[in-house]
Amino acid sequence: MTALHDVISPITEKKITAVPALNAEETVAAIAKSVKAWETWKKVAPGDRAKLLRNFASLVEKNIEVLAKLEVENAGHTIGNARWEANNVVNVLNYYAGSPERLFGRQIPVPGGVDITFREPIGVVGIIVPWNFPMPIAGWGFAPALAAGCTVVLKPAEVTPLTAMKLAQLGLEAGIPENVFQVLTGSGRIVGETIVQDPRVRKIVFTGSTEIGTQIMAKCAPNVKRVTLELGGKSANVIFADSDLEKAAASAPGAVFDNAGQDCCARSRILIEKKAFDKFMPLLEQSVKAFKCADPNLETTEMGPLITSAHRDKVASYVEESLVAFRGTAPSGAGFWFPPTVLHITDRKHKSLSEEIFGPVVSVVTFEDEADAIALANDSEFGLSGSIWTNNGAKALRVARGVESGNLSVNSHSSVRYWTPFGGFKKSGLGRELGPDALNAFTEEKNVFINTEILGENILKRLEGRVATITGGGSGLGKATAIRFASEGAHVVIADMDEKSGQAVATEVNGTFIKCNVSDKASVDNMFAETFKKFGKIDIAFNNAGISPPDDDSILTTEIEAWDKVQLVNLTSVYLCCKAVLPYMLKAKKGSIINTASFVATLAAATSQIAYTASKGGVLAMTRELGVQFAREGVRVNALSPGPVNTPLLQELFAKDKERAQRRLVHIPMGRFGEAHEIAAAVAFLASDDSSFITASNFLVDGGITGAYVTPL
Ligand code: NAD
Repeated sequence: MTALHDVISPITEKKITAVPALNAEETVAAIAKSVKAWETWKKVAPGDRAKLLRNFASLVEKNIEVLAKLEVENAGHTIGNARWEANNVVNVLNYYAGSPERLFGRQIPVPGGVDITFREPIGVVGIIVPWNFPMPIAGWGFAPALAAGCTVVLKPAEVTPLTAMKLAQLGLEAGIPENVFQVLTGSGRIVGETIVQDPRVRKIVFTGSTEIGTQIMAKCAPNVKRVTLELGGKSANVIFADSDLEKAAASAPGAVFDNAGQDCCARSRILIEKKAFDKFMPLLEQSVKAFKCADPNLETTEMGPLITSAHRDKVASYVEESLVAFRGTAPSGAGFWFPPTVLHITDRKHKSLSEEIFGPVVSVVTFEDEADAIALANDSEFGLSGSIWTNNGAKALRVARGVESGNLSVNSHSSVRYWTPFGGFKKSGLGRELGPDALNAFTEEKNVFINTEILGENILKRLEGRVATITGGGSGLGKATAIRFASEGAHVVIADMDEKSGQAVATEVNGTFIKCNVSDKASVDNMFAETFKKFGKIDIAFNNAGISPPDDDSILTTEIEAWDKVQLVNLTSVYLCCKAVLPYMLKAKKGSIINTASFVATLAAATSQIAYTASKGGVLAMTRELGVQFAREGVRVNALSPGPVNTPLLQELFAKDKERAQRRLVHIPMGRFGEAHEIAAAVAFLASDDSSFITASNFLVDGGITGAYVTPL
């Protein structure tokens, strides 16, 4: 059974409730659920994710009063602050609800293709929230994380878990799927540590002390885990003599005592120009004494109690009575009260100027001039916030640029809001990515380069899931067609007598190689039988293998052996292939057979290859007959007749005999030979359903040669 730990109210010192204190195993199990939830959450359409976040925001808005009261009781925040904080969660959720649909990538100009970047959610994000601002700090983490498509395991501070638990419950009610946003209560040592160490958690957002922050950073290093760290501060409130001292003094208590000083942005050092010290101190005393520390449930209260009794002891340890300039008042009795306290420090090395007290204690120290003010402001290992008071705009900018600090306000103490990203100089952390930058912190940039050639071929997917055989697939037109078929989604069976080239093409297209001699009946029957056995169907048969041997020439010189060989490989093979594959296709009542003929089947040449021409004429006539015979049975049979194609064979032939090349080229209206991929594109068309009304055709891919009477000059 899960252990429980008590939640105490800092106002009454009484137990409010008890919440689960998870152990390491329970934490690991919760992370596993988060990993699983991410698989579906990251795929939720951006518009739907946006809608869920808006629903979440509106439910939080309806519950502002409930959440605010919970925070008053659990953290001792004033009711006014607590309402602002709950409303901040509403604003942050609404702000980031606009971003899932704006997770734009980039397009980068490159030669030869398209280069694009996507922003991918990084995965499970661990958010570790401190006790000082349980609601806003949680929202600054979980809202952009969820918007980016990450899932969240959030560990609230042990002492202030109640609003986070309520927010998770509201998220669920708003329709955020289960386990997408989990709140894991328990100790930092167990739950926090487990989240930080688990390699499945890809990012940690930690807000808290510099000490723990540096430990977390080190523990994230072995897994190269991303970290967002917002750590300690010792912010300076720099007041020049030329400023409106009344205004500066009136706003100084709020700048440090708000939330009882438990704020990393608290202006806990007042740096006052020496010549203004005597005038400033009485004004400050007046405003500090008027600062109302009382029951935080009252609307007029400006400051409540400290978070725990241990913390009160720590704050008290910084206060030496001799240094106290003056103090405000605080209630006595139950509650961890501590009055607003002003120290006057003359020793610039005093620890109250360097250490983060995190309570309602401010140290006043004087400076000589502008340079001294900057040096004193920077004499800190922190660099988070700061204020500058002056009536000289140029000086304000100079000092602001000189002070090492993540955010600075001039003549104001307005602090960071949800749309303002800010840095963390020195030991104040790595800065907090708010506003549009936050999405970058929860996403990984993925760059994809797509070669334009492949892009073009991949546009069509007409053969998805089809099984296609290609005879003579190891070379030339067969190989080009194999590549094209595969790119359109077909599984290709390469049938070739040449094992080496056939196997190489099969590997290239992720297909299957079956050794086959197309002029041998048993070999052909076996190739189709094996294909059917392996895939349970044959959708496409491209009967393409063929030869054009040199001893095939004019009828006057061509012998019967050459004639027989060419008929066997070019014509009989098509008969054997069609005879073998037709039964499979007729049974399935569908199929597309493409037989390779040639433009020479319809045109005569004075430079004859008699056996070849006759074989291709036979292929054409046979194809037409089969196409007609099986037209009503769902099987289409077409002849593909390429014109002269720019294959290695042809190139070699014509490179040796330029005059012969020219004699042919002159008849082609397009004025060039075809390319293998152009023939393959036509085969893919005939193989696909795009040619569903084409059968018994002679499909000419010949640059216009068979259509020409006179060719262009
Ligand atoms: P190619 O020589 O590059 O490829 C033919 C393939 O068939 C080779 O892989 C070879 O190993 C294989 N093959 C040869 N005999 C075989 C057999 N008995 N059993 C199994 N496989 C065998 O030729 P290509 O240029 O791609 O020609 C393919 C088809 O296109 C042929 O039918 C050819 O007649 C026809 N064609 C080509 C052109 C052209 O200009 N290249 C023009 C018109 C028609």
